Amino acid sequence: MAYDPDNIFARILRGEADAHLVLNEEHCMAFMDVMPQSPGHTLVIPRQPAEDIFELGAESLNHLVAATRRVAQAVRTAFNPGGVMVMQLNGADAGQTVFHIHFHVIPRYAGEGLTLHARSMADARQLDEHAAKIRAALPAP
Ligand code: 5GP
Repeated sequence: MAYDPDNIFARILRGEADAHLVLNEEHCMAFMDVMPQSPGHTLVIPRQPAEDIFELGAESLNHLVAATRRVAQAVRTAFNPGGVMVMQLNGADAGQTVFHIHFHVIPRYAGEGLTLHARSMADARQLDEHAAKIRAALPAP
């Protein structure tokens, strides 16, 4: 399948669609998932257009992993969860629904399951608050 330049994350990268931004840098962007599986669920994406991990250039992947770790650190500081899940899906059969590669950063708590994947929209004001909390905890590159 060819990369679709009109996928929602490409539109966010171009500023054509809104997002609750956590990080906006030379190589990567991070923003709140609008249908969080746990409060604080953040997505990290490269600027390079690539559907999945197989298409992304090695250098962009390195930047993406480094940015994902910083976001995971910030999510841990901001929400103090028991653990932080980092997840990345490739292909519809693996559950991928947006075809611009992204890492999910999801706070987890002992005994608490996850909300179902991409089912219910969160309150926009709450997402703004969560983004601000994570931005404030973001370590330097
Ligand atoms: P995937 O299933 O491809 O691994 O994850 C795509 C994620 O993007 C889902 O968790 C879904 O909730 C999220 N998502 C879908 N549409 C939007 C959107 O318009 N904005 C944001 N911020 N997240 C979205």
